[in-house]
Amino acid sequence: MTTTLFTSCDAVVTCDNAGTVHRNVDMLVTDHQISIIANHIAASELPPNTEIIEASGHFIYPGLINTHHHFFQCFVRNHAHLDWTKYSVIEWLDLIYPLFAKLDEDCFYHSSVAAMGELIKHGCTTAFDHQYNFPKHAGKQLIDRQFDAAEILGMRFHAGRGGNTLPKSEGSTIPDEMCETTDEFINDCERLIDTYHDASPFSMRRVAVAPCQPVNSYIETFKESIALARDKQVLLHSHVGEGESEVIKQRTGMRTVDWCEDIGFVGKDVWLAHCWELNATEIEQLARTQTGVSHCPEPVYLVGAEVTPIPEMQSAGVRIGLGVDGAASNDNSNLMHCIHSAYMLQALVAATHNYPVPDPKTFLHYATRGGADLLHRPELGELGEGKAADLFMLDTRKMEYIGALHDPQSLITKLGISSDVDLTMINGRIVWRNGEFPGLDEHQMVAKAQQHVQRVVYKHL
Ligand SMILES: [Zn+2]
Repeated sequence: MTTTLFTSCDAVVTCDNAGTVHRNVDMLVTDHQISIIANHIAASELPPNTEIIEASGHFIYPGLINTHHHFFQCFVRNHAHLDWTKYSVIEWLDLIYPLFAKLDEDCFYHSSVAAMGELIKHGCTTAFDHQYNFPKHAGKQLIDRQFDAAEILGMRFHAGRGGNTLPKSEGSTIPDEMCETTDEFINDCERLIDTYHDASPFSMRRVAVAPCQPVNSYIETFKESIALARDKQVLLHSHVGEGESEVIKQRTGMRTVDWCEDIGFVGKDVWLAHCWELNATEIEQLARTQTGVSHCPEPVYLVGAEVTPIPEMQSAGVRIGLGVDGAASNDNSNLMHCIHSAYMLQALVAATHNYPVPDPKTFLHYATRGGADLLHRPELGELGEGKAADLFMLDTRKMEYIGALHDPQSLITKLGISSDVDLTMINGRIVWRNGEFPGLDEHQMVAKAQQHVQRVVYKHL
């Protein structure tokens, strides 16, 4: 048994239903769970090897849950000539997909280390990745390598096995090198589920079936995905409502949400990324079918024609979580910063859309409880006895927090924190503390990753 005692925490923000914030408390972690939160826990009564962490001056939050990302895109960040803002979506895809198709197995591993490392530094403890890029030359072990990367960093990892099956010659944007057959895709989903998916509470590894997007796959790919996921009792995910609805309507006579409902790609076991172009009827459809939404605010600044109608979704009862999205449309993997971005976007349009001014606390809730709900993880996203020991800690004794400490629940939303957190714990293990990944050499990891960026990406620019 391992035990860690946090003493004299200034605030423990629980994100429970009542919005409880404990002040000046101790918190005990036993193995992978929070066992006690109390005014005082006597260290003398704990096992002698208990680690004591002095937490006065610190706020503790539930670990953040990222519900949409594309780790591999970390290798193509901050390239001026690949910037979304200069092109139409189709032009941009034609430019960037051939580059994505050059990546090999090592690139997928090291970009996953990069993305998860950055997520952990900013308080994220559960990461979902939508890995839809399977260049033929790179083989089928790409998600296996992501699980390796997650294990090294200690991340709680949900893998989304994505894929595209519609060739460019039939109207997709997918280079032939990245196109798979439906059978290839479904067989590999099944292999990954059988190899890695652990449905038990506190599990560190799960797999979702996640065809990339309706515009770039045959309908059979989606239908077989639904059948497989429901047979194996795993979740389904895809991109919807990010500018493709009229294209789908031209092809099928239905906008994307109708098309999804028609084939059964809706339900409590489905969550969809983006959804910024949904109309009121479509929002009602998602609420009625209990389909979730991963709201990725930062890509909205770059590519969204509309600001996602989050207050309308919330009042309709849509299940909402947050995501950073891939680095091709958001150059950082900082979910804490996305909490602020999501809030600011809604504040921007509140008056013109006749929305109420958004409540900042709600946005922390989306990134914790909301994400846990989308990923079917009731043991995550909340700090309380019996919940997972997934948390992060902010040292508030810093210049940037002066005058801002009276409301810990709104602190992250209002301030927009870009710096690293001071400690991240996942499943009871400290994976980030005082600027270091314990037991790992960050400079060495970065140097290795950069070699592969140089070798594969820079060579083709
Ligand atoms: Zn995406």
